[in-house]
Amino acid sequence: MTRRVLVAAAMASVALVAGAWWWRADAGLSAVARQAPRPVEGPRTAFDGERAMATLRDLVQIGPRPPGSPEIREARALITRQLSAMGLTVQEQPFIADTPMGRVEMVNLIVRLPGRVSDRLLFAGHYDTKLYTDRVFVGANDGASSAAFLVELARVLSATPHELTYDLVWFDGEEAFVNWMGYDHTYGSRYYVQAAQKAGALKSLRALVLVDMVADRDLQIRRDAASTPWLNDLVWATAKRLGYGGVFVDADTQIEDDHQPFMAAGVPSIDIIDLEYPPWHTPDDNLAHVSARSLQVVGDVVVSAIPAIEAHAPTAAP
Ligand SMILES: [Zn+2]
Repeated sequence: MTRRVLVAAAMASVALVAGAWWWRADAGLSAVARQAPRPVEGPRTAFDGERAMATLRDLVQIGPRPPGSPEIREARALITRQLSAMGLTVQEQPFIADTPMGRVEMVNLIVRLPGRVSDRLLFAGHYDTKLYTDRVFVGANDGASSAAFLVELARVLSATPHELTYDLVWFDGEEAFVNWMGYDHTYGSRYYVQAAQKAGALKSLRALVLVDMVADRDLQIRRDAASTPWLNDLVWATAKRLGYGGVFVDADTQIEDDHQPFMAAGVPSIDIIDLEYPPWHTPDDNLAHVSARSLQVVGDVVVSAIPAIEAHAPTAAP
């Protein structure tokens, strides 16, 4: 899920955002919009949106993938197979989550791409889909897009030497089992941060780049006001430089997501997410509403922003 936070102090801007969303939803259905798709632009980096899209399709093909299900096990196997084929080693981080539905076995997947130094950048997203018993929810955008994006990012980042060590993490249990409140959400990221704190491994973590819902075919990403300002500034400046200012738009929102446990632990973090997605948490979150181009745009921006993020990320505290 991920929730947009509505706070009283921001009611005026929230109303504007909601208005823009309705307008966009309406425009998305118009004949003019259907007849005049945006021009397809070529990739700016080695990130291949079509390849990410193929992984997204394979994940959707599995069906609903809620935590603890045979289907999420299948999704894990699929992600692991693809990464192994690149010569990468996938580490499983299993844990038991206490949920409103009882104890559920969950597994985060981790790939480490060692750099010249042990200080790390973390790239993460979730691969579970929200549990529904009354509908078939395959999460093409909400669950599959982040998981597929990270597989393609692993391929790109593992191909060239780098200074910092890169960790890629696929979180289980981002979605709420019942309602997004209390501790019924972000199970995988909370476990990851707790385990890292216990192991003293959080100190070497210099920044988190989180992606979620990045394949909306009508992609418009607003800055998450809860993310670290210098990371937002760098990523938005990179998007503008690449000509993607129409996707990474100059508007703010506020999102609750897997970056929160990291923010609470003092790790600079950014959540790259487009939650203005009409099929969100409905059976319509399917292949008809996602696109390779959107994955391409976010891939180009993330890959291109990495050198600046490395240069700005504060050295770990002694
Ligand atoms: Zn969701």
